[in-house]
Amino acid sequence: DAQIAGEFGRIMEWADKYRKLGVRTNADTPADAKKARELGAEGIGLCRTEHMFFEGNRIDAFREMICSETVEEREAALEKILPEQQGDFEKLYEALEGCPVTIRFLDPPLHEFVPTDEEDIKKLADAQGKTVEQIKTIIASLHEFNPMMGHRGCRLAVTYPEIAKMQTRAVIRAAINVKKNHPDWNVCPEIMIPLVGEEKELKYVKKFVTETADAEIAAAGVELKYEVGTMIEIPRAALTADDIAKDAEFFCFGTNDLTQMTFGFSRDDSGKFLDAYYDAKIFENDPFAKLDQTGVGKLMETAIKLGKSTRPDLHVGICGEHGGDPSSVEFCHKIGLDYVSCSPFRVPIARLAAAQAAINNK
Ligand code: PEP
Ligand code: MG
Repeated sequence: DAQIAGEFGRIMEWADKYRKLGVRTNADTPADAKKARELGAEGIGLCRTEHMFFEGNRIDAFREMICSETVEEREAALEKILPEQQGDFEKLYEALEGCPVTIRFLDPPLHEFVPTDEEDIKKLADAQGKTVEQIKTIIASLHEFNPMMGHRGCRLAVTYPEIAKMQTRAVIRAAINVKKNHPDWNVCPEIMIPLVGEEKELKYVKKFVTETADAEIAAAGVELKYEVGTMIEIPRAALTADDIAKDAEFFCFGTNDLTQMTFGFSRDDSGKFLDAYYDAKIFENDPFAKLDQTGVGKLMETAIKLGKSTRPDLHVGICGEHGGDPSSVEFCHKIGLDYVSCSPFRVPIARLAAAQAAINNK
């Protein structure tokens, strides 16, 4: 094992000497983050925060938030989640030892969080002093026929700013604490807003995110740099990236959604008819597995060019599943991305693919 580890380490060192692309990981638990670090990840490119709302009693508080009618009630429910959310981020910063961490704010539609079984609905009704019927009416009001194209991502931050504000407090408080314990680490939180389609949305959300972050930093009497950026995962965002870059310090391509929305194929059902496409020779590759360079890839190139025309120092990464696919990694190298981000076990593949890309495209 020691020999394999030694040989693996040597090959990876060679790869790192050649590659130009950074390699980060998609991780939202300290265990995944540590594993990815061991495998050579240089940061977290995507921390999805949704699963965190299901931990322990948090889901009860979050459901209360969803069923609340006033801002004050919503804030009070989220206040119960805040300390644990802060703890989540502290553990991730600790695991990353000063490497960059990009935290993506809540993305899925709220209906994914509401109870479905009668007992849980009754529990929520009792906690809220409401009837079961009232809770069912609220749940029904969240139903959407196309939720992936609906009330999710930054749209949630527009309609429920309290959620993004709570997450901002958690990110900033966590960063301040970790920085206190490790003054030599470069702790600079990267807050990522999902599903932005145009500049006005990002500007609207960024305003209260930065106000909240600045107030936290001022109250703590410390100095902390942080960045606010966006995912580029809607074709319109790629096409209007010059405007979006006015408000974004970084872009990260969410090619899972970008592929879904560019092809008009559901990312959750794509296998169902694609076999017929391969048989008919319409497709050679699954676009969700390998970046389609003529569609999604063109949008990425456009977004980079437009974004950098506004902000030459814009950092750009990718955190869709394609970030761990070797031929997609080569394409990312060619179009000038700064990093790819992939699941922990794909990190070594991405390091090798990035080196191969650099060698092939000297
Ligand atoms: C994406 O859309 O590519 C992405 C990384 O976000 P998620 O998969 O969480 O929608
Ligand atoms: Mg997405």
